[in-house]
Amino acid sequence: MSASLATVSYLGATILFILCLGGLSDQETARRGNLYGMLGMAIAVVATVFGPNVGTAGLSWIIGAMVVGGAIGLYAARVVQMTQMPELVALMHSLVGLAACLVGYASYIDTSSPLTGAEKAIHEVEIYVGILIGAITFSGSLIAFGKLSGKIGGKPVLMPGRHMINLIGLLIVIYFGREFLHAEMGQGVLPLTVMTIIALAFGVHMVMAIGGADMPVVVSMLNSYSGWAAAATGFMLGNDLLIVTGALVGSSGAILSYIMCNAMNRNFISVIAGGFGSDGAKPAPAAKGSAEPQGEVTAVSAAETAELLREAKNVIIVPGYGMAVAQAQHIVNEITSHLREKGVNVRFGIHPVAGRMPGHMNVLLAEAKVPYDIVFEMDELNEDFPDTDVAMVIGANDIVNPAAQEDPSSPIAGMPVLEVWKAKTSIVMKRSMASGYAGVDNPLFYKENNRMLFGDAKKMLDEVLGALTTGK
Ligand code: NDP
Repeated sequence: MSASLATVSYLGATILFILCLGGLSDQETARRGNLYGMLGMAIAVVATVFGPNVGTAGLSWIIGAMVVGGAIGLYAARVVQMTQMPELVALMHSLVGLAACLVGYASYIDTSSPLTGAEKAIHEVEIYVGILIGAITFSGSLIAFGKLSGKIGGKPVLMPGRHMINLIGLLIVIYFGREFLHAEMGQGVLPLTVMTIIALAFGVHMVMAIGGADMPVVVSMLNSYSGWAAAATGFMLGNDLLIVTGALVGSSGAILSYIMCNAMNRNFISVIAGGFGSDGAKPAPAAKGSAEPQGEVTAVSAAETAELLREAKNVIIVPGYGMAVAQAQHIVNEITSHLREKGVNVRFGIHPVAGRMPGHMNVLLAEAKVPYDIVFEMDELNEDFPDTDVAMVIGANDIVNPAAQEDPSSPIAGMPVLEVWKAKTSIVMKRSMASGYAGVDNPLFYKENNRMLFGDAKKMLDEVLGALTTGK
């Protein structure tokens, strides 16, 4: 492929990536957005592999690596459960970071086209910064993977004097950066290695200090870091497409982090600096499900739930992580259709961090073919709860926890929540009194107008639908 054809292909791929991001901003266009992204990536890969920078000798290596990598990716995508998606994403981010580090070292060791003067300095800055971001992304994402998959505890691990440790680390990185730039050609491996070790340690330290409840922001922040690591790799390799793609991922990840910070009432700057989410609030109890119960709850049966729904005019359904675990979205859709046929106004309220990844609930509801026009974001219907007869919470916990508003010492204090307790009756569907991801007790369960429907969400909803259709 000629150089000019490769450049035109890169331009086409860039446009498709931008159209992809535009498409992903809305549920109705998300599928098309994904197609644009896939097409753009296919063009980018073909133009790179058959482009002017790859000789025929390297082609077999690249194709071999693509077959192995593609097979692993295909296998992972097929076996991974929807609820494990954030872990997979975190693991993928770590690979982007690792790739940036390896490309950085390879470009430094490769002295086949010696550079001098300003060109040498710029190239070395690209390498140093690329490896720095790559190493933080790599180790931070591995820890995020460990926390999300439950292999590492969700509790924040706070080292004494951690801000001082971070500052000293930063000063050492700057000092060795200077040493690296002043080193003779090929002699800078030692400062580069010291910086890499510090960056790896910083990534671990940064994510370990973050509490379980703040993990969603960390995932999107690492997504952003992985984009900047890819952009840095693009600079090192002189690949314009990689620079643009990395910048798109980096900036969209940063915007997503900002939106999620707002949704969780966290400070964006302290997130970027790392080690947030625990200051000023008491730590979450030791493990998920460990909070002490705080009063009496009123349990209801599936038949009683059906009765409440049948008599309601306005119903808001709030799905959460438990709906994903139970795979209850299809039965939720059936109940919704049934109620709507009977003239009940049914709407869905989606919290920005419901489930375990951004957009988790929207994806599941779309998969079950719930109409888009009855799915609303939290801010769009939070004021409507006082006029709602039944608020049905399906496997959600933290996102409907009134302690976020009522208890300033709660680990989730200040996080905006869906105010389901303001409805005439709220029904919480879950298996036990266990707490949610943040590990905090939920005063909602003990409210006078709240009812608990205990059991697996899918099983209970099956029974509710049965009672609704048979009228018993
Ligand atoms: P939560 O984790 O707070 O609560 C989910 C509830 O679902 C649990 O209390 C559990 O109770 C119940 N549950 C689990 N399995 C089932 C089942 N089979 N049937 C019925 N109920 C079930 O989820 P939310 O969606 O309310 O909140 C999300 C939390 O996750 C937030 O704290 C958020 O910060 C965090 N988070 C979000 C991410 C994101 O990007 N969206 C990423 C990482 C974390 P029980 O065991 O009693 O059944």
